[in-house]
Amino acid sequence: LGGSISRALQQMSNATIIDEKVLNECLNEITRALLQADVQFKLVRDMQTNIKKIVNLDDLAAGHNKRKIIQQAIFNELCKMLDPGKPSFTPKKGKTSVVMFVGLQGSGKTTTCTKYAYYHQKKGWKPALVCADTFRAGAFDQLKQNATKAKIPFYGSYMESDPVKIAVEGVERFKKENCDLIIVDTSGRHKQEAALFEEMRQVSEATKPDLVLFVMDSSIGQAAFDQAQAFKQSVAVGAVIVTKMDGHAKGGGALKLLLTKSPVIFIGTGEHMDEFEVFDVKPFVSRLLGMGDWSGFMDKIHEVVPMDQQPELLQKLSEGNFTLRIMYEQFQNILKMGPIGQVFSMLPGFSAELMPKGREKESQAKIKRYMTMMDSMTNEELDSSNPKLMNESRIMRIARGSGRHLREVMEMLEEYKRLAKIWSKMKGLKIPKKGEMSAL
Ligand code: GDP
Ligand code: MG
Repeated sequence: LGGSISRALQQMSNATIIDEKVLNECLNEITRALLQADVQFKLVRDMQTNIKKIVNLDDLAAGHNKRKIIQQAIFNELCKMLDPGKPSFTPKKGKTSVVMFVGLQGSGKTTTCTKYAYYHQKKGWKPALVCADTFRAGAFDQLKQNATKAKIPFYGSYMESDPVKIAVEGVERFKKENCDLIIVDTSGRHKQEAALFEEMRQVSEATKPDLVLFVMDSSIGQAAFDQAQAFKQSVAVGAVIVTKMDGHAKGGGALKLLLTKSPVIFIGTGEHMDEFEVFDVKPFVSRLLGMGDWSGFMDKIHEVVPMDQQPELLQKLSEGNFTLRIMYEQFQNILKMGPIGQVFSMLPGFSAELMPKGREKESQAKIKRYMTMMDSMTNEELDSSNPKLMNESRIMRIARGSGRHLREVMEMLEEYKRLAKIWSKMKGLKIPKKGEMSAL
């Protein structure tokens, strides 16, 4: 879906004149994509009507950037449609909160519990994990392993078979230890579904959670949606976490899931502890539209680029002068930034081509190769933004100096040109401050 929507926008961008016909084609394409993703007809129709109302082509005087206005309208409407609302309760650091995780087996509860704990721990919270899954063999071991890796205190038992008893004991213990985020992991499946829902009701009644989080597997589509309704009837679900957004359901397929009545607060994007993101509708839609995730990108910059270098980088960005040296420095940052695929998918233009999902290792090797070649460049070459400078004799010298093929140096320069073109669009752009978002 993300693909077809961004393609539709791309086609519109390529059109020489933006008229009614071009706009309609673009909107129809988007409508089709949304309907295919099972988004309700009414929502889609309303969205289309709203966009047409906002983008009144006849009234737009010449000189207006119609593409930008259309893109912004589409962006705004999608954001409005996906706005997750507020969770029923938000834990506060330093105040004890009990958070209970529910969801079917395999949805990712145990994994997500740890991610959630780890996420808060990094922000200075004192989380703790309680394993109230006495149904599945190995459930406690799994939680214990995860918790140990993340150095988070945990509680559970190999012997006790009563989930309510363990849940209560665990919560009591961690309250005494002044933990501020007590997370209760529960079992997913029972021989009878009715028994599972009864168990959830009992655990919830005994531990009095401040927040019940429903964990939903995005890859199972409609079924997950129906489960959410079933769970809601036995416990008061306050918010949702959608997992496995990295899989084939990425973006589009999961779109409908984001339209649950309960707010989605986090998404899981992989099996690893740090593959977990606050769900924020703007960057999500931005990625969906292939516009790059500015706020995610900015967060990463704030996180990774040394404080004293940030203003300089942002300055360079807004000048739109993309030199090979800037590319080199960005490569360095990217290699430093860790789960590399994640970061790449946030950068406008850096994403798909240079860093295909699932081929991060290869791409990393490619970046290192590019950097080796750039090590053989002169300062003049690195700091120039004149593409004509790189003549044949320079290219040959670089190839020789780095022991790479001529073809590879040219490929690297092609990549540079591609990125430079994208970066040039940022010229004069007001760089969004932390938390703000600006569509390209
Ligand atoms: P539970 O039965 O609900 O506790 O589910 P688990 O936490 O045991 O997870 C089931 C499987 O899904 C495990 O193999 C996890 O590694 C995997 N998993 C969980 N979250 C994600 C995610 O966001 N992305 C991917 N790719 N796998 C996930
Ligand atoms: Mg589990």
